[in-house]
Amino acid sequence: MAVKVERAYSKWILDNENITAKIDSKSLVVDVIEKQSGDVWTMKTWGPGCHNDLLVPVGGFGYRWISLMDGLKEEEKIEEKGLHGVELKVRILRERIPVRIKFMVPDKDPNLIIEIDATGPSKGWPIKDSFYPRPFILGKSTKSYTVLPIRHGCIVPIDYPQEIHQSYQVSACSGLYMPWFGAVREKSGYLAIFETPDDVEIVVDHSPNFETTVAIHWLTSMGSFGYPRRVRYIFKPKVNYVTLAKIYRQYAKDCGIFRPLDDKIKENSKVSKLLGTIIVPVSICTHDRRVEPIFHKVVSFKERMKQIVMLKEKGIENALIHVDGWGVRGYDNLHPDILPPNLEAGGWEDLIDFSKKVEELGYLLGLHDNYRDFYLDAPSFSIQLCVKDEVGRHPIHSYWAGGPQSVLCATKALGFVKRNFEELIAKGVRLTASYLDVFTCVPLEECFDPNHPMTRTQCKENRAEIFRYVRSLGIVLSSEEGNDWGIPFLDFVYWAPIAIHSDGKKLGIPVPLYSLVFHDAIVMPWDVSTEEKYLRCLLYGGVPILNPEEKEVERFKFLAYIHKHIGKDELIDHKFIGEDYKAEETTYSSGVKIHVNFETGTYIIKGVPGISEDPRNLLSISAIK
Ligand SMILES: [Zn+2]
Repeated sequence: MAVKVERAYSKWILDNENITAKIDSKSLVVDVIEKQSGDVWTMKTWGPGCHNDLLVPVGGFGYRWISLMDGLKEEEKIEEKGLHGVELKVRILRERIPVRIKFMVPDKDPNLIIEIDATGPSKGWPIKDSFYPRPFILGKSTKSYTVLPIRHGCIVPIDYPQEIHQSYQVSACSGLYMPWFGAVREKSGYLAIFETPDDVEIVVDHSPNFETTVAIHWLTSMGSFGYPRRVRYIFKPKVNYVTLAKIYRQYAKDCGIFRPLDDKIKENSKVSKLLGTIIVPVSICTHDRRVEPIFHKVVSFKERMKQIVMLKEKGIENALIHVDGWGVRGYDNLHPDILPPNLEAGGWEDLIDFSKKVEELGYLLGLHDNYRDFYLDAPSFSIQLCVKDEVGRHPIHSYWAGGPQSVLCATKALGFVKRNFEELIAKGVRLTASYLDVFTCVPLEECFDPNHPMTRTQCKENRAEIFRYVRSLGIVLSSEEGNDWGIPFLDFVYWAPIAIHSDGKKLGIPVPLYSLVFHDAIVMPWDVSTEEKYLRCLLYGGVPILNPEEKEVERFKFLAYIHKHIGKDELIDHKFIGEDYKAEETTYSSGVKIHVNFETGTYIIKGVPGISEDPRNLLSISAIK
C-alpha cells in the first residue's frame, strides 16, 4: 500500500501500512496511531515539561520565545527519497519569520520524520533555538516508562519516586551516549532518533505519578539555527527498552556507525588482547597545583614495573596497563607538552624499559594523554590556538591538577598529537594502546575564532581525525566514556558507568542500553570496588579495573574469564526477574545467561565452559572449574 497524503478539515493525514499521522495545520499538534495496537500518541502543547517552539528576533530589539501556532501557513505536498508528506511554511509575527516544517512517512515502515528548518534570516537577525517537535504525552498507566540512554542507560517508570528536571546533551558524558530516547506503554512504544545529532539536547521533566516529558531542544549552531534539524520517530506495538535499543542498533548499522570488534581485530590483531583483559591504572607522578603547598608524589617506572611483573606471577593472563602522570610534570599537567617522560620517575630510559617489559609480559600499554585541555604554563601555549565563544572570550579555569587551562581548538590539535606520538615511537617506547582523555566525554565544542572557526560537527570530525591517525599507528585506542560517534574508531573506553543524579544517587532504573547496542563493538571496563558494581560488571559483560596494589586478584580474573568467552557476543536480551528490580538476567548471543540478584549478592552463570551453573556469591568466586 502506498502512502496516502490528504487534507481532512484542519488536519493533514499521512497514512501507510503501519501508522497514521494526523497533523493539525493550525496548532501543529501531531497525533500518531500505531495501527496494530490501535494506540494513539499525542503531542503535548501546554503544561509542565512544555516549552515554546522557537527563539526568534523581535523587531531588531532582542529575542523572545514564540509558538509556531501563531503563524500563517502555506501548505504543500512533498515527496523526498521514498518519503511522502507535507511541508508547512509558517510565517510568524509581523516580520513574517520563515520556518518550514516537513512531516514525512515512508511507504511501509512505521516511521514519522519531522524536519524543521528555521535557517532563513529575519531582517538580518538569525533565528536561534527550537523546542519543536513537542513532546508526546506518555500517559499515566502504571506500566509506562521513558527510555533514556543517559550514560549506560536507564528507564524512568511513570511512578519513579524521585523528581527529575534536567537537560542532557547528546555526545556528552553527563548526557546521552547515543542520540535517541524512547517511551513505552503497555500496548506500544516509540523511539526518537536524532538524525542531526550534533547540536541537540533533551530536557527531561518527571514528577512521580504525574507525567514524564522529554522535550527536544535544538541548540544553536554558531549562534543561529544553522541548518535543518531532523528527528525520526519509530512506532511499534508491544515493545520494551530492549526492542528500542535493538532498533537503534540496526539504525547504527545502516548508518555505518556500528563496527564490530571482529572487524577491529582484523585491522589490528592486538585488539584481541582486550578480550578477557583486566585494566590496571597506574599513577607515576601526581603534581597538584590546586593545593598549597603543591602536592607532589612520584612512584618510579621501575617500582611500577615490579608491581606489573607480580600481576603475571599471580596468573593474570591479559592486562592493559593504563599509565597516568608519566609526563614531564605529572598527571593533568602541561598538556599537550608532556615530553620528556617524568625525570624523577626515570625519564626516557625507564619508560622505554617499562614499555618493553609490559610487551614481554604479553600485556598492552596505554599512556594517558590529552589534546583538549590546554595548560597556560605549557611551553606551546598560545591563546591564539584556543576556542573562543560567541562574544570573543576564551574559557579559562583551574579544575584540574595542572592549574589554569584553556581549551585547545580541535582544529589545531592533530599537529601536537603527531609531534608527540612520532617522538615516543622514534625513541623506542612500545606503545601498544592509547588513552586520549576527554574527547568522548566533554560535549562537542564550537569555536568562534575567525581564524579557525569550528561547528560542533567539525569538532567531532577533528577529534575523529585524531582517532584515525592514532589507529593508523597500529595502536589499540580508547577515550574516556561511551558514545556513539566514536564507535568506528575506539576499541575500548575508560568506562561506561550507570546514570546518576547530581547528588550521586542512581538515576532511574539502570538498564544496559549501551551494551544492548554496542557490546560486541567496544570493550567496556567497570569499577568493581563495591559488591553492586562488581555484579553490574558481571551482568553487563564488562572487564574489571584493578588497583595494581590489590592483593586478592581471583575475583578480577573471574570477570576476565567470563569476558573472554562473551566479549565478542552481542548482548541480545536483558530482563528483570520479578517486579521489584532486584534480580536481573542478561542473555548473550553465544547462549550464555547471567543471572544476578542485587539484594542477596548471588549470581548464576550458564553456558560458560569451566564455570559450574550453581548459584554463587562473591565469596565463592575463586572456584573456576
Ligand atoms: Zn577554533
